[in-house]
Amino acid sequence: MCIFCSIVKGDIPSYKVYEDENFLAFLDISQAEIGHTLVIPKKHFDNLLEMDDETAKGLIVLVKNLAKKVKKSTNASGINILNNNGESAGQSVKHVHFHIIPRYDGDDLVMKFTEHKLSQEEFLDLAKKIRG
Ligand code: 5GP
Ligand code: ZN
Repeated sequence: MCIFCSIVKGDIPSYKVYEDENFLAFLDISQAEIGHTLVIPKKHFDNLLEMDDETAKGLIVLVKNLAKKVKKSTNASGINILNNNGESAGQSVKHVHFHIIPRYDGDDLVMKFTEHKLSQEEFLDLAKKIRG
């Protein structure tokens, strides 16, 4: 059984911040910034791409509403919402989860995007490929 399924079951303790029939939110054991919260469906899906639309809708709406609560209660000035899908994307726990990470002016969290330069033709080709 995966570690988050064990948390849902209560076999592993967690600091819960929200729970209903289908979803659970709890503090990340490694607080990237103070207030770092994870939101999961109780049912196991490996990642977001594997989810049915109905549960995914419920999850994203909950993430939005909890992000507002986390921001207010921590007096954060911003919020990052992060969802990793696949090991190469940094997913370490294979049970879909959203990170809600409060941000504070001048905090020390680094999220770095490197830029891949594309020509106009490459942009056009890429957009066409993704549109399908
Ligand atoms: P990922 O890297 O898969 O996007 O994020 C997994 C997150 O789960 C990490 O931020 C990690 O700190 C957190 N995590 C892993 N194991 C546990 C645990 O047993 N309890 C809690 N509360 N968080 C965990
Ligand atoms: Zn699981």
